[in-house]
Amino acid sequence: MSIGTSAKARFKIIQEITQRTTRKFDPPRDENGRKLKISEFYGMNTFNLDRMREKLPKDVFHKLQQTIETGKKLDSEIADSVAQAIKDWAQERGVTHFCHWFQPQTGSTAEKHDAFLSLDKNKRPVEKFSGSQLIQSEPDASSFPSGGMRTTFEARGYTAWDPSSPVFIMDTVSSKTLCIPSVFISYHGDALDEKTALIRSVEVLSQKACELLYVLGEKDVKRIVPTLGAEQEYFLIDRGFYNLRPDLIMTGRTLVGGQPPKGQQLEDHYFGSIATRVQAFMSEMEYELYKLGVPVKTRHNEVAPSQFETAPIFEEVNLSTDHNQLTMEILRKVALRHHLMVLLHEKPFAGINGSGKHNNWSLMVTASGVGLDGDNLLEPGKTPHQNIRFLLIVVSVLKGVMQHAGLLRAGIASAGNDHRLGANEAPPAIISAFLGDLLNSILDNIESGADRDKNPEAAVIRLEVSKLPEVMRDNTDRNRTSPFAFTGNKFEFRAVGSSFSTAFPITLLNAVVADGLEYVTQLLKKKSGSSKGGKTPEILEKAALETLKEVIRETKAIRFEGNNYAEEWIREAEKRGLPNLKKTPEALAQLVSPVSKEMLIRLGVFSEAEIVSRFHVRIERYIKNIMIEVDTLKSLVDTMILPACYAWHGFLAATVGSAKQAGVSAPQAEVLTRLGNLITSLHAKRVQLEVTDNKAESLSTDEEKARAFSKEVTVAMDDVRVVCDELEAMVADDYWPLPKYREMLFIS
Ligand code: ADP
Ligand code: MG
Repeated sequence: MSIGTSAKARFKIIQEITQRTTRKFDPPRDENGRKLKISEFYGMNTFNLDRMREKLPKDVFHKLQQTIETGKKLDSEIADSVAQAIKDWAQERGVTHFCHWFQPQTGSTAEKHDAFLSLDKNKRPVEKFSGSQLIQSEPDASSFPSGGMRTTFEARGYTAWDPSSPVFIMDTVSSKTLCIPSVFISYHGDALDEKTALIRSVEVLSQKACELLYVLGEKDVKRIVPTLGAEQEYFLIDRGFYNLRPDLIMTGRTLVGGQPPKGQQLEDHYFGSIATRVQAFMSEMEYELYKLGVPVKTRHNEVAPSQFETAPIFEEVNLSTDHNQLTMEILRKVALRHHLMVLLHEKPFAGINGSGKHNNWSLMVTASGVGLDGDNLLEPGKTPHQNIRFLLIVVSVLKGVMQHAGLLRAGIASAGNDHRLGANEAPPAIISAFLGDLLNSILDNIESGADRDKNPEAAVIRLEVSKLPEVMRDNTDRNRTSPFAFTGNKFEFRAVGSSFSTAFPITLLNAVVADGLEYVTQLLKKKSGSSKGGKTPEILEKAALETLKEVIRETKAIRFEGNNYAEEWIREAEKRGLPNLKKTPEALAQLVSPVSKEMLIRLGVFSEAEIVSRFHVRIERYIKNIMIEVDTLKSLVDTMILPACYAWHGFLAATVGSAKQAGVSAPQAEVLTRLGNLITSLHAKRVQLEVTDNKAESLSTDEEKARAFSKEVTVAMDDVRVVCDELEAMVADDYWPLPKYREMLFIS
């Protein structure tokens, strides 16, 4: 019996892994050999506010600080001076190049490096970095997805420094590059990237939240910022295995692969002790992130074998969005040093838990103008006033989420996330909100109070609100199945996919909540009979209660405390009129629905053209992703799986032949027949896939194509897979060319 070369490679990897030694990560030390504390090197590769204060002339620093606080563009008068300081700082650290680091609509980041090197008029080399180079740069925009926006508008765009996110040094083995976090816009001001709209959404949300507080009598609050802590899930597998899987390389997930005898049913991985090799990887990854000022805090094993999580301390959404992008990048880079591959796909392994990115989100007052030094508005407080405010914010969130549940679903739609949402392990595709027992009963009581009692307002609010401080502690019995859950002092948007940029989902969440806040504020103004505020606390309290009651009643349908995975919930949600957008094409259509468009345009988060372009970019990406998967699957079948099957079939046939010749029985003849049948079946499914795929690709619009891909092509792919996986279970291990689940997930 001869072993195929691919199968040989598989065994070689297993052998190599067994012999591999763990790459040691030695944390940095001072001159005396003492290990540095994290706080001693945290942020060393960023030019943060403290460093600016230290390096910049006083007046320049103050102007820059103002720019950061107000979110305005940098004054070109001080730009040269800032650029000089940044250049000096960077050069002391051996940086040779700089780049504008931005986030086109690809879900990842983009950068084009330029050297500081320049030639003076005598052709002598000098290092230069001007204010205008810091502020603005012109990448060749034509190759980034724009969803047709550039044909309707303008072919060129530029990147502009966003000073609210500090510049940083990306340190690789061979070079150091100064990265300037930037937005990417067309010359007409259209957002070509993910960050511009995020920043707009932060501004409008701040404004709407301040307006509510103003009506409640808090007139000094100038700025309220959304905060985000994004828990990042990922898989780690040996790079050797990865390189033998064309499907992982091309699509990020395994398109075939039989279930291992042991999956996660023993529940022995979750929070288990972390393997030495993985631990070494995590320490080094965290070290790299600390240098970049990314505050990673928590690490642990996740539910599935070889699945892990890293979570940061929350920050302003703008910053944490950048930091999550850096986290994904550093995860990948550092894994390679450990001969590991990070899989960020939402569902790399069928039948095994997928990965998400839980977006913990809240609203915080910035008292001093910068930073998160004020109240968390989603934290019940000590005074009745704070508690009324808290409840009004909660119902504003509910109102927004209910009104725009479909839009929130659109923000998390992708080919990858389709495998996860609604697959009995992740949040379902139906958006609903979970509040927890206590908060839920408080809302119920406020709602029904009036019917029970003649003069209930004050009584109910005092009675129920006095329990509010306990809400934060009512955290023990969490509902893990909810896509959007209140967890004590924040909401957790759990349906976001692990490979996503947080920018788009959070832009939409910010917008949706801003809309809810506007609605609630208007209602409150109407009920308190004032548009200026300044009413007595009693009138305000009564108006607030009436407002709460009304909005609680209106948003009942979006609240769900039960098991989101249950079959009954799907029926119940339908009765309630909640959208159940199972797959990406239906979900994305919500982006361009009249309700979504009206709201996003009214709040100034997107223009009409920007929304339409986002829709097209995403539909196109969906189609392309599946087309790549189909081609990869066909080639896997044709060039690896079928040849292995034919070889094993040939071997069996030969042994059956010789057994017959020798006049002995050949029990393997039965296996041979079954194998032959399966091969025939795989031929048929392979043809069916091709036919279905061709039909889908021949449709005229992207919308039609996307629908056909989601409804027919993915089904045909699954049909092929089922047969492949049966064959995997049948063909001799020595002949099987692809690393198996049991190997990739369990050998370390
Ligand atoms: P758990 O999910 O078990 O409650 P934590 O309370 O530690 O865990 O929070 C998980 C994530 O939520 C962390 O990234 C944390 O920084 C973030 N988080 C906590 N408070 C807030 C907040 N007010 N706003 C945004 N994110 C927050
Ligand atoms: Mg959590």
